[in-house]
Amino acid sequence: MLESFIDEYRQDMLESLQALLRIPSVEGNYVPGQPFGKACADALDYVLRLAESHGFTVSNVDGYAGHVEYGDGDDYVAVLSHLDVVPAGDNWSRPPFGAELVDGRIYARGALDDKGPALSTLWALIGLKSLGLKPRRKIRLIFGLDEESGWKCMQKYFSAHPAPLGGFTPDADFPLIHAEKGVATIRIEVPADVLSMNPRVISFDGGTRSNMVPESARAIVDCHSGIAVNEWEETLYREARNRQMEARFTVNGSSIEIVTSGVSAHASQPEKGVNAIVHLAQLLASQPVANASMWRAIAMLDSRGKSLGIEGSDEVTGPLTCNLGRGYLDGNTYVFHLNIRYPIHWTGEEVALRIRAQLSDKWSVHLAGDLAPLYLPLEHPVVQTLAAVYESVTHQPAIPLAIGGATYARAIPNAVAFGPLFPNEPDLAHEADESWAVDDYFRCIEIYAHAMLELANTL
Ligand SMILES: [Zn+2]
Repeated sequence: MLESFIDEYRQDMLESLQALLRIPSVEGNYVPGQPFGKACADALDYVLRLAESHGFTVSNVDGYAGHVEYGDGDDYVAVLSHLDVVPAGDNWSRPPFGAELVDGRIYARGALDDKGPALSTLWALIGLKSLGLKPRRKIRLIFGLDEESGWKCMQKYFSAHPAPLGGFTPDADFPLIHAEKGVATIRIEVPADVLSMNPRVISFDGGTRSNMVPESARAIVDCHSGIAVNEWEETLYREARNRQMEARFTVNGSSIEIVTSGVSAHASQPEKGVNAIVHLAQLLASQPVANASMWRAIAMLDSRGKSLGIEGSDEVTGPLTCNLGRGYLDGNTYVFHLNIRYPIHWTGEEVALRIRAQLSDKWSVHLAGDLAPLYLPLEHPVVQTLAAVYESVTHQPAIPLAIGGATYARAIPNAVAFGPLFPNEPDLAHEADESWAVDDYFRCIEIYAHAMLELANTL
């Protein structure tokens, strides 16, 4: 029955997708009633108006988020998606907000992440309603407007509404993600040793953000004399060659500038990158230098957190990962930002405690941010229901995934990420030429319609 509904509305489904994708809903400046700017507000308006035209009750929560409802009762099942997008960036071969249809794919920022999938959930709900399929629990589609920047939309939404019984978010991978590591951001501060007679780092900066492996780092060392600086240069060349590092040295009077290059990677997979700050520390630690013990500790950092005393793993998500993403000298204080993806049974506080116990008490260790792990056991009804729907619609096996990344599912209880990316398809989210196969759009409408109905009848 759903198939004939999709056939009947095919053109409307495509035209509404193009219209939504043509709204450039990148976060903009705050305006009262439009906290994330006009374009984000327009995207929400568009979706809510389309829902209203099909007879649904809708709500706009002060321009932070909105919802579309179907069914009766107080308890509800939630489907959470977002209508904001990251900036288009460069190197597009088509207009990023043109929503051009070429060879069965629709090209636009947000096609896949997450406006396309968000709209597919609305068409799925329209399908249930037009077929007269009434759920046992109320179904609510929630649309957030700042998933890409801070999740303030969800704070605001859930300060005005009770939490759902459970649900899913179409903002990652099929078949579904039932486990996500915790994500702790740790900030470490170390006082610079200004009394040391050894050569001293007078400028240091590496990386741009904690959740990426830094691809470059730079330091300037004052060696106090021309003789010392030449010795440094010679030894550093040798060290860099022996360790097969990419590094450049520039002598200027009695100081030397050291620039190391690494390979960028996402902090959830730091072993895939090469950390330029760690390389820089390895070079510095090979010399007599002020703050030598700090540079030695940084030089020993590994992607499993062994040297910080936080090595650990669980059977579902695998080993803890540790990334030193950013470091700099601020006045007389060294500052380091670590992004740590920890096992599902730990807490961020525990990670910080272990690091404190391992490091010198002259170092201060703060838990600057923490996203608790997400874990639904395989026998959880949400996991069971969604896996069964996926298998029955696609005739493919649904083996739940565990990841180190963080999805929107963490914003609601008893929820998992469920699509929209099918196995072995390229993940073009946040990339140039982001696009989505139109057939996958229709396939998602079918899967999500079954999924929300089954969940609402089960929970
Ligand atoms: Zn997203």
